[in-house]
Amino acid sequence: MEQKKKYIYDFCEGSADMRTLLGGKGANLAEMSKIGLPVPPGFIITTEACHRYWEEEDFISSIWDDVKEAVARVEKLAGKKFGASVNPLLVSVRSGAPVSMPGMMDTILNLGLNDDTVKALAEAAGDERFAYDSYRRFIQMFSDVVLGVDIVKFEERLAKARENAGVKADYQIPADELKKLVADYKVIVKEAGFEFPVDPWKQLRLAIDAVFRSWNTPRAITYRKINKIPEEYGTAVNIVTMVFGNLGDDCGTGVCFTRSPSTGENKLFGEYLINAQGEDVVAGIRTPVPIAALEKDMPEVYSEFNRIAKLLERHYRDAQDIEFTVERGKLYILQTRNGKRTAAAAVRAAVEMLHEGLIDEATAVSRVSPDQVEQLLHPQIDPKAKRDVIVKGLPASPGAAVGRVVFDADEAAERGGKGEAVVLVRPETTPDDIHGLFASQGVLTSHGGMTSHAAVVARGLGKPCVSGAESVKIDLAAETFTVGGVTVKKDDYLTLDGSSGDVILGKMELMEPQFDDNFRELLDTADKVAKMQVWANADTPEDARRARAFGAKGIGLCRTEHMFMAADRLPVMEAMVVAHTTEDRIVQLDKLEKMQEEDFTGIFEAMQGLPVTIRLLDPPLHEFLPKIPELVKALETLDPESAEAEKIKATIARARELHEQNPMLGFRGCRLGMIYPEIYEMQARAIFNAACKLTKKGVSVIPDIMIPLVGTQYEMKAMRELVDRIGAGIIEESGVKLEYMVGTMIELPRAALVADQLAEYAQFFSCGTNDLTQTTFGYSRDDAEGKFLAQYVQMGVFKENPFAQLDRDGVGALMQIAAEKGRSVRPGIQLGICGEHGGNPSSIAFCNKLALNYVSCSPFRVPVARLSAALAAIGEIK
Ligand code: ADP
Ligand code: MG
Ligand code: MG
Repeated sequence: MEQKKKYIYDFCEGSADMRTLLGGKGANLAEMSKIGLPVPPGFIITTEACHRYWEEEDFISSIWDDVKEAVARVEKLAGKKFGASVNPLLVSVRSGAPVSMPGMMDTILNLGLNDDTVKALAEAAGDERFAYDSYRRFIQMFSDVVLGVDIVKFEERLAKARENAGVKADYQIPADELKKLVADYKVIVKEAGFEFPVDPWKQLRLAIDAVFRSWNTPRAITYRKINKIPEEYGTAVNIVTMVFGNLGDDCGTGVCFTRSPSTGENKLFGEYLINAQGEDVVAGIRTPVPIAALEKDMPEVYSEFNRIAKLLERHYRDAQDIEFTVERGKLYILQTRNGKRTAAAAVRAAVEMLHEGLIDEATAVSRVSPDQVEQLLHPQIDPKAKRDVIVKGLPASPGAAVGRVVFDADEAAERGGKGEAVVLVRPETTPDDIHGLFASQGVLTSHGGMTSHAAVVARGLGKPCVSGAESVKIDLAAETFTVGGVTVKKDDYLTLDGSSGDVILGKMELMEPQFDDNFRELLDTADKVAKMQVWANADTPEDARRARAFGAKGIGLCRTEHMFMAADRLPVMEAMVVAHTTEDRIVQLDKLEKMQEEDFTGIFEAMQGLPVTIRLLDPPLHEFLPKIPELVKALETLDPESAEAEKIKATIARARELHEQNPMLGFRGCRLGMIYPEIYEMQARAIFNAACKLTKKGVSVIPDIMIPLVGTQYEMKAMRELVDRIGAGIIEESGVKLEYMVGTMIELPRAALVADQLAEYAQFFSCGTNDLTQTTFGYSRDDAEGKFLAQYVQMGVFKENPFAQLDRDGVGALMQIAAEKGRSVRPGIQLGICGEHGGNPSSIAFCNKLALNYVSCSPFRVPVARLSAALAAIGEIK
């Protein structure tokens, strides 16, 4: 015979690991009962029941007998009877999903009350005021949640009751007044067209139904979308014996974190109210007092709570957020969950729990998310400051932005370009607005989601963004926007919190990012847990120092061309490019060599003893020349016979000669070194001279020389020989011992496919995934991002922009081939990644799977990458 499916679990039957079935709240209530904590008796109707409820009409009938039996078991434990006219049992009916969705679904307290049981309750408690207080709460909550009566009328009537009694707070309203209130509440319900159920069993059934239904309220659906919570989870229903915090001055209710959720400090952080029930603490009607006051008010309760808080932390090995109620001096625990916390609190709590021996290194690292690390690196709004939030949009790109409102991208670009702090406000942004976005502190859009153009671009630029604030009505002509009755004009100050989606009126003070000892220790712990190292892309000594400060273990990409862009070098570079003969070119190259040597010396010094991967010249030469129209214009103002004019003419001629239809696929990378070997020879000399001189001085130097855009074995072999030849000469001459490597970037599909051939000469590979993504997809990034990529993401062609998150199926497959083929010829060959993906958590997880030696990213992303590498190593990100 098929066994009947179990849809109901008593608290004593469940445990914390059953949260999928029992919901988070129920699983934890069960766990706490199991370990002997004072939890009022109750039972859970499972999330599977919720699924059946959607599929089957009147499913609740089919489990009704089981519900009744469960209630009977609770009655026994509580010593009270549901619906009885003596000592009646009241229950709460509470929602509880597998992941916490605070405040999104509904709870009903004091269920089981009617005109008879309320008298019995008054009798049993010896307190009439209390009984009617509970009753009026019940009618309001039930009417709101189950029947759908508008609560405004209740609130108005309650205000009148306070007025009649001449008191300020609800708990001061006397019994007589409450009785009248209850009578009027019933009239309100009737006038709204509803019949209030008097039978407690009917109440229970309707409440269960309402909790199941509340899974699908619009706000719950929106919350799940934003937080990526699966729709199919469903909610469990918890039925819990009521305990009363509103029975007098030896009663109360509160919430408490075991550690501060804003700083992580190991100290109880909470609030409570004497003579109050349930939501009173958060409802803001009475101001709760800090938990510390409980020590004076009820010393025994306090020390018991303290003991339980510690115990729960040890049990769950994480900071807890606890709800409790005190009924006539007896403490009850009504909920516990892992406390939500700020990034700073997450870091501090993780490090301190590690010290306390509560958790191990891997767990400590797993307590912090890459997003949180990112948050810690952005300037932030002081979490203690009061916020005048006028609307909440989607938290599309983290960080805080403060500036004057501007509605036009050109204006933003102009004013921002001059150093003014502006915030761009647009219905949505298009790629044409990018200049405005770039010059703004942040952007607010009324349309578009987390993957809208504004959001994607803002994240790429590291600009805070709040998108999709649909209730913001923008009047572009008048240059104003209105939301919730507030009108904001051009030039008004606005503050955006891209981490929470808050749009705040006025100019909030920003705090420097917090890179404190705890943060440092957490990242050091991450390095221990990780399998891969994190290196940085750094082009200047200054970048290199920043990279080290952020904890980079090497430089994975040093782009030499950036060194030529400086004002004093560009003219020499230009002359080199214009030169027609090798001899002329060498004259200029000699000048450049001295400058390059200085630069490399600076970088090597900054990175003392850590590997530095230097890429030889990569961009097409015409990039170093002014644009032809500019040159033509300059020529117009000159005497055509002058030497100056001759020079410009020569430059124009050379620029025309070098012009390419498609520079991305043109005369660049090692192709330059093949055709003009003197350029790469100069660079190699600068590197070896700098390295040898420093080595002589006792500074340890590890140069890795990287050849860009190699596609054939011939190129690799030729370039390796070129570098080795120069290196051998200089090393011998200087008489020092210098270890170095020559390797290549993998940035062409062909390079990946013939990686075994390349590995015969290449001593390392670094996956240049920016170009590899361009060449694999056949997209030019600059064109694609502006023209169709955002739309592709929106259409679902890709889940994420492949330039931000590595395309595993295509680009990733090529990387895997390169890794395997490289290792087949040169076991243990050093493998890394130096595209922007090196700072992206999901892409880092993929690199971890390929067992690369390092990921290299911009210095600013190094901390995120260090944590991500650790999380990848322990399978927390996949
Ligand atoms: P939420 O998930 O929104 O926190 P809860 O189901 O936890 O909703 O309940 C709302 C409030 O009612 C909380 O303050 C909780 O402690 C209180 N509460 C719930 N059940 C009971 C009960 N059986 N006795 C007393 N208070 C309760
Ligand atoms: Mg709760
Ligand atoms: Mg490249």
